[in-house]
Amino acid sequence: MTILVIDDSVDSQELIKKFLKIQGYSNFLCCSSADCAFNELKLAEPEYPASEVDLILLDIVMPDVDGIETCSRIKSDERYKDVPVIMVTASTDESNLQQAFAVGATDYITKPLGKVELLARVRAALKLKEETDCRKVREQELLQALKQLEEANETLQKLSSLDGLTGIANRRSFDQTLNKEWNLAVRQGSLLSLILFDIDFFKAYNDSYGHQAGDDCLKQVSYAADALIRRPADLLARYGGEEFAVILPNTTSKGAALVAENIRQAISSQQIPHSASCIAGHVTISVGVMTMMPLQQDALTELIEEADKALYQAKQNGRNRVITTKNMEY
Ligand code: GH3
Ligand code: MG
Ligand code: MG
Repeated sequence: MTILVIDDSVDSQELIKKFLKIQGYSNFLCCSSADCAFNELKLAEPEYPASEVDLILLDIVMPDVDGIETCSRIKSDERYKDVPVIMVTASTDESNLQQAFAVGATDYITKPLGKVELLARVRAALKLKEETDCRKVREQELLQALKQLEEANETLQKLSSLDGLTGIANRRSFDQTLNKEWNLAVRQGSLLSLILFDIDFFKAYNDSYGHQAGDDCLKQVSYAADALIRRPADLLARYGGEEFAVILPNTTSKGAALVAENIRQAISSQQIPHSASCIAGHVTISVGVMTMMPLQQDALTELIEEADKALYQAKQNGRNRVITTKNMEY
């Protein structure tokens, strides 16, 4: 606990120290001028941490820089805005005191100094300082906790939107994103494309290679497709068991068909052995593509249904191919 006494009269300084020492206060910094105090407080070096001062007793009438000006300068330094300042004054001149309070003084005490009054005011000011410090620590802790909570929420949000096996977006995230992009397309009058693809003869794959190998295959397939999804608004998601979906906002039918064909080729060229496939010796996919210019009265389900129909058509037509629903000139 350190008390800074600023008074041009050394007798006054000594008297204050004497009264306070009796009560057990022992740490004092004494200054006979404002400049000395500014030095102690490193006012000219704002990059330094605050000096250890818990209370300032400040004489109003001093040569050169007076107490009011001194208080004003100390208080305008962010580091000392919570340090209480008790003005010590010979006069009870109202306007002097008013000025002192206006520049941030906490309290005042009149000369000649009375021991009881000095102690009472010092005690009250120090209690206030202690409570302020306590509050600041609690605020800091609260901020820290809030930050941790936000980080945890973010992680949770990420986890809850990702598919546990493949690490790509899950169905929940797909539904949310498709809804969002649909509404955006309605507002902007822009196109929205959807690709659905499904691994060919995957049940047979599981049956021949085992469920674990099936899981690995799903990971490889999503990894290969993910590498081809480049635009920030595009989203690859695991739609169901071995079905995947790609949302392509602002993309023409031709553009979506191209992405679809690239995905089909990328997966095929991975040459994941699939001896039980009736159409190739490796893993292949069938792909359906649909593009719409969503309008207010249209239903989002139409986009999914049409992409699904195209996928079904791809299966019917021999699998390992892309079918794009022809939808006017999109
Ligand atoms: P098609 O060519 O017509 O798509 O035939 P298919 O065998 O791929 O389709 P079907 O719907 O009959 O079988 C899908 C299989 O996918 C059945 C299911 O056990 C498997 N499957 C779904 N989810 C997973 C998964 O998370 N891991 C593994 N290993 N297999 C899965
Ligand atoms: Mg399948
Ligand atoms: Mg399927």
